[in-house]
Amino acid sequence: MTSPLSLAVIGGGQLARMMQQAAIGLGVHIRLLAEAPDVSAAQVIPDHFVGDYTDIDDLRRAAEGSSVVTFDHEHVPPEHLRTLAAEGHMPRPGPGALIHAQDKITLRTRLDELAVPSPRWAVVASVDEVVAFGLPCVLKTPRGGYDGKGVWVVRSESDAAEALAGDAVLAEELVDFRRELSAQVARRPAGETVTYPVVESRQENGVCKEVIAPAPDLADELSQQAQQIAIEVAEALDVTGMLAVEMFETDDGRLLVNEFAMRPHNTGHWSIDGAATSQFENHLRGVLDLPLGPSTPSAAWSVMYNVLGGAIDDLEGQVGVVLAAVPEAHIHLYGKSVKAGRKVGHLTVTGDDLETVLARARQAGALLQDGSPIG
Ligand code: ADP
Repeated sequence: MTSPLSLAVIGGGQLARMMQQAAIGLGVHIRLLAEAPDVSAAQVIPDHFVGDYTDIDDLRRAAEGSSVVTFDHEHVPPEHLRTLAAEGHMPRPGPGALIHAQDKITLRTRLDELAVPSPRWAVVASVDEVVAFGLPCVLKTPRGGYDGKGVWVVRSESDAAEALAGDAVLAEELVDFRRELSAQVARRPAGETVTYPVVESRQENGVCKEVIAPAPDLADELSQQAQQIAIEVAEALDVTGMLAVEMFETDDGRLLVNEFAMRPHNTGHWSIDGAATSQFENHLRGVLDLPLGPSTPSAAWSVMYNVLGGAIDDLEGQVGVVLAAVPEAHIHLYGKSVKAGRKVGHLTVTGDDLETVLARARQAGALLQDGSPIG
């Protein structure tokens, strides 16, 4: 017997961990396929086992007893997703959708078909082809990149040779962007959608550092356009659960789509503490085909600060220090061992005045991450 409120989750990172937080309230039972016994989500999901997400038998074992399978990451091989679907389990999002978050060339091709504005691009195989495409440009590996790994900014022929040696084959124009935005939408299988306010994400060394919700000073027209793109993509690709569309805002006020995530996304973590329904809850509701919740912000501003590993080994030991200084900070630790640059937690501060909220989030973030109130 499969329960309508049981769910297989593939991958044991912080996204699965935060799905469990939402699952507790909804009474959803999660069975987790974890990469190792001590990963972030395995610490909080009792029904977990250690397996390999590239092994179909391990995926079957995770899916047994659940009608729906969802994901912490995008790396499950497409052929395994199709096998699961053929055997009566429902991967959500399905393989036909997920491929666009797995393969950047498939993504770019589809965006062109949908006439969604994106950076100019081409597939390249040699330095000469990169030069013909135009320098400077960005070269990317189509699959498996994350947090800027697999992305090269190429300004010279030798840069191009280095990127090509690293398996980069996708060339994109180097977008001179004002900032990066993210538009999220939750979608149910039958088509109901709920959009979230468009947010600004700020990166450091290719890694998301801060997210401001909503994006400050974003023209209404652009905000609506970004949300419209997210809805259009979710519908065209039949996405279920959460979709994040990462975009560039150019100096001349255009939006260009960079890439998708078809799961809860770092740019939506603010919603746990700053919206009526978090992205994690709406992901579960979407994939389980339950009515979606409103995304209404609970405060004028939310700022999310990513805590990156480095100076502090004992993060739990810092919690009291942070809360003494910034009691309104909502801390989310991921239970991960600290490595330089690794995302080990985040915190969110909400409030009425953006400058204050930003300053408080940075103060709390610096205390947690570095042990000192720089910020
Ligand atoms: P990943 O899959 O590693 O997240 P992305 O394609 O999102 O890779 O690229 C990582 C970062 O590199 C982006 O957030 C952005 O800052 C920068 N970037 C990516 N593509 C371009 C581009 N065409 N022009 C300018 N910057 C880019």
